[in-house]
Amino acid sequence: MARVLIIGAGAVGAVVTHKCAQAADVFEHILLASRTRAKCDAIARQLKRPIQTAQVDADNVAETVALIRAFRPDLVMNIALPYQDLHIMDACLETGVAYLDTANYEPPDTARFEYKWQWAYHERFRARGILAVLGCGFDPGQTNLYTAYARKHHFDRIDTLDILDCNGGDHGYPFATNFNPEINIREVTAKGRYWEDGRWVETEPLAVKRTFDFAEVGPKNMYLLYHEELESLARHFPECRRMRFWMTFGDSYLTHLRVLQNVGMTRIDPVEFEGHKIVPLQFLKRLLPDPASLGPRTKGKTNIGCILQGVKDGRPRCYYIWNICDHQACYREVQSQAVAYTTGVPAMLGGKLMVTGAWTGAGVFNVEQFDPDPFMREIGRWGLPWQETFLDRYPLD
Ligand code: NDP
Repeated sequence: MARVLIIGAGAVGAVVTHKCAQAADVFEHILLASRTRAKCDAIARQLKRPIQTAQVDADNVAETVALIRAFRPDLVMNIALPYQDLHIMDACLETGVAYLDTANYEPPDTARFEYKWQWAYHERFRARGILAVLGCGFDPGQTNLYTAYARKHHFDRIDTLDILDCNGGDHGYPFATNFNPEINIREVTAKGRYWEDGRWVETEPLAVKRTFDFAEVGPKNMYLLYHEELESLARHFPECRRMRFWMTFGDSYLTHLRVLQNVGMTRIDPVEFEGHKIVPLQFLKRLLPDPASLGPRTKGKTNIGCILQGVKDGRPRCYYIWNICDHQACYREVQSQAVAYTTGVPAMLGGKLMVTGAWTGAGVFNVEQFDPDPFMREIGRWGLPWQETFLDRYPLD
């Protein structure tokens, strides 16, 4: 029976809280804390069992330390924003409590996410005897575990990996993002990058496009992006010659994004406006629909998976593993759309595997460094079942 502190009461934090509340035999006591306590209380009211809520500014390490000392959790789940990662890790180090997150650290003033800042905590977590698990959402998270599972059971060597993230959902707005708009737009407007023959190859933003026919969604245009799991997967599967990440975008989304970029609304540097300094992207976030409010409006499905090529018993093979998630079914279950659901469910299960001792260790680890089997055995029952097939031919060039 564990005590868990969840920090962040946004779209994903709501799902994590619902799912931890469902796992009552594991998470006996739950404290949901966030910058705005009213959001925690609103989520608490949706649940069938009582939880505690609190206000915390997770950028203030002393405040988080005081909250941890008062609640005495076995695990802190960081479901706030990437900017808080290092501060929350500092608080965990000070109090000796395990840590989990879903997105790697990103400095607020540069759109550049990298694991190096969090990997640099490895020795300190190891010396303190505590475990930090990084990137336990869907991508990163479940896609890393799909890769580890494929490598363990279906390949002696993997040569290529393509991660395909398709959101076939429609929320009816001309432009909205399915998770935090600031983080989402920073990611999409950055240069593309993929791993090939031991080095990173850079592309212009959204310059490489393919069409793929996704099961239960249909054909969609997808674009090569740099995504954070590529960094850890390239490190942990050095045999793999090429790794790429693809995400689908509709034409309307891309047209809006292009206009916003052209007029400077996606800038992340402060601009002087009528005596105030404002960051255009943060102002834009204020105007856009809150991702947590998209749940009741979003219809359709997500389809996220991995295609791997490699060798088993001396023969080449191609393997595809994926999950399909229905926005409306998620809403019926936890009052959130599928993008938040597909992130929050693996986070809860990762936390469960940590507190029950299936995933152990001291130091900072990415999820693919653990045995994928306990995760793969349970994830279907928690709402994200996977499908798999061997393909006769590789479907992408
Ligand atoms: P939201 O913006 O909806 O929620 C973030 C929450 O964190 C808000 O409730 C916010 O509070 C809170 N918060 C922000 N700053 C602080 C702070 N200093 N102290 C305490 N709380 C704070 O984001 P999402 O729920 O969409 O995303 C959450 C995380 O999940 C992000 O890191 C995102 O990158 C990650 N993610 C990961 C995915 C994956 O597959 N791995 C996919 C999608 C998202 P307030 O409400 O007051 O602003």
